[in-house]
Amino acid sequence: MASETKLAGNPPGEALLAKFAAIVGEKYAIREPTDMASYLTELRGLYTGIAAIVLRPGSTQEVSEILELANEAGTAIVPQGGNTGLVGGQIPFNGGDEVILSLSRLNRVRNIDPGSNTMTVDAGVVLEQARAAADEVDRLFPLSLPSEGSCQIGGNLSTNAGGAAVLAYGNARELVLGLEVVLADGRIWDGLRSLRKDNTGYDLKNLFIGAEGTLGIITGAVLKLFPKPEAKATGFAGLASVGNIGKLFDIARRIGGHSLTSFEFVPRIGIDYVLRHGDQIRDPLSQAHDWYALVELSGQDSGGGPAELIEAILGEALEAEIVDDAAIAASLGQADDFWRLRELLSEVQGHEGGSIKHDVSVPIAAIPEFIERASKTVTGMIEGARPVPFGHYGDGNIHYNVSQPVGADKEAFIARWDEVNAAVHAIVTEFNGSISAEHGIGRMKRDLLPGVKSEVELDLMRAIRRTLDPNAILNPGKVV
Ligand code: FAD
Ligand code: ZN
Repeated sequence: MASETKLAGNPPGEALLAKFAAIVGEKYAIREPTDMASYLTELRGLYTGIAAIVLRPGSTQEVSEILELANEAGTAIVPQGGNTGLVGGQIPFNGGDEVILSLSRLNRVRNIDPGSNTMTVDAGVVLEQARAAADEVDRLFPLSLPSEGSCQIGGNLSTNAGGAAVLAYGNARELVLGLEVVLADGRIWDGLRSLRKDNTGYDLKNLFIGAEGTLGIITGAVLKLFPKPEAKATGFAGLASVGNIGKLFDIARRIGGHSLTSFEFVPRIGIDYVLRHGDQIRDPLSQAHDWYALVELSGQDSGGGPAELIEAILGEALEAEIVDDAAIAASLGQADDFWRLRELLSEVQGHEGGSIKHDVSVPIAAIPEFIERASKTVTGMIEGARPVPFGHYGDGNIHYNVSQPVGADKEAFIARWDEVNAAVHAIVTEFNGSISAEHGIGRMKRDLLPGVKSEVELDLMRAIRRTLDPNAILNPGKVV
């Protein structure tokens, strides 16, 4: 994992802390170590830091005042949404000089306009609530992640989150029409437009999306809504090889067209983990298969709807012996059960000891060869290491995780993180892939970036950052 150095900022003294607290009110300025604890560590426990104070502003205006003061004083600000990020971007370093700015009180749905298929929300609205608000007006907000009960729209946009419906609807970036952003000097950029077409110069909103809190603080967003699909069909297929998953994907793409919403894959070892450690989990297929694909279609219920399409897809694949066995969910409950086999994977790996993770992407056609080569390399380096490659096949996005050998020492295994990363990322690079497909750079991959970006790209990134944040107060030491 990346080094933990950061240029020292100015530790805020008592007087400055009092000024920060006065902006949000004492009640929303957290200074007690026990009350701060949940903001200082992330889910996996990989990153823990120290903050001078946690501020919980209640309006865009308060965010603006905080940044204006921080910019004058040279105080580092760490923006934090739902704290579900997986690369440590939302966690301060150990210096104790940084201020955490939590967006959680900015949690209003400001406006919802089914006629224009748009919704304007505060950045701190939890993804699940945004989805529910859309649902209430018979619309779909398609972003969907296993962390949706806690992660916030601002965090989703700042990490350009992906998830299970990217195939049909795109990443978070594609779901945004406008943004409201507080700049490093406290100025508020009101870009809350809901236009589908707007070619008036640079697309500024796209700078802030995926910037992981290094260019500005997102305080509001106009999101795209979609018609709510009337029907859904979910299939779970057992296959003998990754190559066959690719062939099934081709068929699903051809027959399913735009109705194909998700195409995920899991290896047998992953299903074993979920069966072992998950609650009330059942294997939907009677026999074990080396690989599994989860295929979901959604659309309208009229002729040629999802139910017919999935039967056609799996029927053709069974006939061609690409798929060895398959089940189609007979109810929404059963579809949820299929999804749990996929979604519990991140969680259950922890019960199998240490896990060295990679969130990578390669061109879709290269997935089988990538997995074969990565697994050969990793098991060659560490005898008995257990690769668990799973993820979003249809996006070329593989969560190439590696569990420790059974009975091995966890610490000793995790100590080889960087070395294993380097070997796997080298293969990714050979395929012209990405070393961070969905989770971002944060702290974890900061020092890897120079190895995969050209000098020109790095120069551009640094120049943009210096321009928007000349005093380097926004999430210093993260990303680049
Ligand atoms: P945080 O973790 O709080 O912050 C993430 C980054 O954004 C940090 O750098 C932070 O400084 C910055 N930030 C947060 N809010 C703002 C803001 N308002 N303005 C500026 N910067 C801000 N990701 C995927 O893409 N696909 C998945 O399928 C997926 N599955 C996940 C499953 C689990 C169980 C978990 C725990 C995480 C998963 N993630 C996934 C990671 C994903 O990035 C986050 O869940 C989510 O997008 C981050 O939102 P958050 O509100 O928790 O942000
Ligand atoms: Zn994912």
